[in-house]
Amino acid sequence: MRYKVGAERVEQAPPLAHRPDEVVRSARTAPVGPTHAVDAATGAVACGINTDGIDVLDQDWEAAFFVEKCPGCYAAVVAPARVNISEADLLTKRSGCWA
Ligand SMILES: [Zn+2]
Repeated sequence: MRYKVGAERVEQAPPLAHRPDEVVRSARTAPVGPTHAVDAATGAVACGINTDGIDVLDQDWEAAFFVEKCPGCYAAVVAPARVNISEADLLTKRSGCWA
């Protein structure tokens, strides 16, 4: 993985089972609110915010479809890989057609 999930807040997901042998396996932290892309190699956050207070989870940020993603990190990590034309360029061209 290139980026890990960096959560501003995490909560302990309640264990689904109460049998002692299953509690440890099912108890896990889940991110709350927007998450940031933390470079797996350098530990830097893609959108450039301070990493103090960020909990880094051992999960692939790009594959983590179940979490809310920080727009800055999304633009820095996902958008350039997907398209070369920015949303702003598309809007400009589109409005130009109607002018
Ligand atoms: Zn971010």
